[in-house]
Order: sequence, then structure tokens, then C-alpha cells
Amino acid sequence: MDNLLSEEHIMLRDMVRKFAKEKIEPVSSDNEHNKTFPRDIINEASEMGLMGIAFPDEYGGAGMDYISYMIAIEEISRACASTGVIISAHSSLACDPIYRFGTEEQKQKYLPDMLSGQKIGAFSLSESNAGSDAGNTQTTAVKKGDKWILNGSKLWATNGREADVFVLLASTDPSLKTKGVTAFIVEADTPGYSVGKVERKLGIRASSTTEIILDNVELPESALLGEINKGFKLAMVTLDGGRLGIASQALGIARASIEDAIKYAKEREQFGQAIVNFQAIQWMIADMWCQYESAWLLTWRASKMKNEGLNYSREAAMAKLVASEAAMFCANKCIQIHGGNGYTEEFKAERYYRDAKITEIYEGTSEIQRLVISRSLIMER
Ligand SMILES: Cc1cc2nc3c(=O)[nH]c(=O)nc-3n(C[C@H](O)[C@H](O)[C@H](O)COP(=O)(O)OP(=O)(O)OC[C@H]3O[C@@H](n4cnc5c(N)ncnc54)[C@H](O)[C@@H]3O)c2cc1C
Repeated sequence: MDNLLSEEHIMLRDMVRKFAKEKIEPVSSDNEHNKTFPRDIINEASEMGLMGIAFPDEYGGAGMDYISYMIAIEEISRACASTGVIISAHSSLACDPIYRFGTEEQKQKYLPDMLSGQKIGAFSLSESNAGSDAGNTQTTAVKKGDKWILNGSKLWATNGREADVFVLLASTDPSLKTKGVTAFIVEADTPGYSVGKVERKLGIRASSTTEIILDNVELPESALLGEINKGFKLAMVTLDGGRLGIASQALGIARASIEDAIKYAKEREQFGQAIVNFQAIQWMIADMWCQYESAWLLTWRASKMKNEGLNYSREAAMAKLVASEAAMFCANKCIQIHGGNGYTEEFKAERYYRDAKITEIYEGTSEIQRLVISRSLIMER
């Protein structure tokens, strides 16, 4: 696959791989076990420009492309899937809509601090009754004079506990349902805003997932992001980019599973020889690699299309669907190759398996990705 990457991409990959191996990997299991947000790692990633990879340098970004973003999220997630989603949610779900839909004033106000990692971003679309049916927003934003008053409660915000800046969706006209949803930029220190329940999760435990409570949160008009009642479209465009991040996170988990499985199979002996000599093990390794490379190629293609400004919704959904299933497949086989050891916390296989599952759920479940893909195929015929 190296022949599809430029020299700059390979240099970036080697740099992030080294950082992930030396700095992230040694602490990833402890952070996950203790549910600790990896603050030091995020600070170091910020210094390396990894909190603003695919954003122009005029706003403080690293000025790289989406293939660079894919490479970096994969390498980071290979060492720690929690860190991967912290950076991906910050970049794709918070910085990207501000960059894409924000006024010049909003971009100047938020992006330099966010892209340099001084401020962490989050995205709050989901609610208890607005999951796959994301437009069914019950949180309201009512205009009073020159202020917006927000009330309601959002669920599942990645980075919710640590974030300083939220892109948050609220209903500005409940009678219009999906067409009455609007996006706002909400700062975490606004009176009436608070973090509610912090979820206890199966995996990615070093990343926080929280409820957000809005109790008469008063926002100035300048907090409105994009156009009134155009928030659902903004959210869908944002999620296209987010799916590249999650596909890349899934690639990292798949790759880690393959590398650990091969290493273990070479070391573990049964029946007087290394288990890697058994054809059953070799076939599992071959199947894992085929799934990983297929997913990599789809993610690379979708990232390339985003670089070129093409419509890549279907390709992003395909990349996310295939990569998340590859991550689950590879993590499952990684445990199988580890035998009983794979079921224990002594080895990372069980963490890969727990981390892989979320990639089939967030930023649109696999069923929703299949809907996106099939609808676009049916519509164009
Ligand atoms: C760890 C974590 C982090 C998250 N981070 C964020 C975040 O940062 N910001 C945010 O806004 N949200 C976030 N989410 C929410 C996530 O995007 C939703 O959980 C997801 O979209 C699914 O919604 P739901 O949980 O309500 O499931 P439901 O929508 O209730 O789905 C339940 C089941 O029904 C299926 N289903 C639903 N509708 C259909 C349909 N039309 N056709 C076929 N099958 C269907 C689903 O595929 C699923 O299998 C996060 C969730 C988790 C668990």
C-alpha cells in the first residue's frame, strides 16, 4: 500500500508510529483500565500538530490532507483506540464544522486554540430519543430578543467531560422536525451548561462519553453555526468526515490485532512446534490481512475523494462499515490465536475486541451505513 502514499505521507506515518510506540503504547492499557483521559499524550500530540492535521495553517492547522489524517488516526489507534477517538471527535466533529460552516469571526475565535490542542472539541447530536433517528432532537433553542435560550439534555458526547467547545444541535422549530434543527457553538463554561452522567463502557474507556445538560443556557446570536434550521444537513456533512476518522480508528485496531496475533503465533508452541506452523492459524492470518487491506483501500479512496472536494458520502459509509467489521473480525481472530491467554487482561487482544465493537455503533451504526450506501445506489439508478 506504500505505493499509494507520497513521501510526506510515509514520513508522517513513521513519525506518528514512533510516537505511538514510544509514548502511547506503554500507558494505553493503564489509562484504559483506570478510565484516565490521556492528558499528557494529548499535550504531546498537540505539539506535533496532530490536533489540527487537515486544517490550513492560516487557522493554526498543520496544513496536511485527509490521507495524512487517516494515517495519523490509524497509527494512534493501533496503540490506543481511546486516544484515536479523542483526536478524531475533536478534529472531525468539532473543528471541521466550525471550519466548514463558521463565519470568519467564529473561525478566528475558536480554531487557533482548538487546532493547537489548547481547547478540546466535542459534538453533541445524540439524545435519548435521537440516536439513529438523529433529527428527532428534543433539546430546544428559543429566540428571546437577541439571545438563544437552550434547554434539554444530550447524550453520548465523546470528550464531553474534557471539552471546552461543543458543536451542539437543538430544535429551533419542532413543527419542522429534522428541517427545524440548528447547530450552535456552546462553550463549556456557559452558565446553565453542565456535564451529566459519565458512561461506564465496554471499551475505549480512556475516552469520556457523557450526558450534557442545558438548563436555560443563554447564547448570543454569534453562537449560531451555519444557517437557522439547516443543522441536520450540517450534522450529516460533519458525520461523513467523522466516518473517515472512525474507519481509521478501526484500521488501527485491526492492524494491532494482526501484529499481536502473528507475534504470539510465532512464540507459542504446542505439539512440539510454534502454532504459526499450523495451517489453521495461517489461514486466520491471511483472512485478517485481506479484511484489513480491503478496509484500508476503501478508507484511502474516501479520504482521497474528500481531498479532491468530491461527494464522498457513500464512500465514507463504505469505508466505515467495512473497516469496523474488519476490526471486529481481526480482534476476534486475535483472541482465538491467543487461546486462553487472549481472554485475559495479560494480553491486549481482549482490549482490541472490546474497543473494536464501538466502531460498529457510533457515527452511525452498521445498519445506518448500509442504508446510506443502498439509498445512494438506488437513487442514482
Ligand atoms: C461510546 C459512544 C460514543 C458516542 N459519541 C457520540 C458523540 O460524540 N456525539 C454524538 O452525538 N453521539 C455519540 N454517540 C451516539 C451514537 O452515535 C449512537 O449511539 C448511534 O448513532 C446509535 O444510536 P442509538 O444508540 O440511539 O441506537 P438506536 O438508534 O436505538 O439503534 C438500536 C438498533 O436499531 C437499529 N436501527 C435503528 N434505526 C434503524 C433503521 N432505520 N434501519 C435499520 N436498523 C435500525 C440500529 O442499527 C441498532 O442496531 C456515541 C455513542 C457511544 C456508545
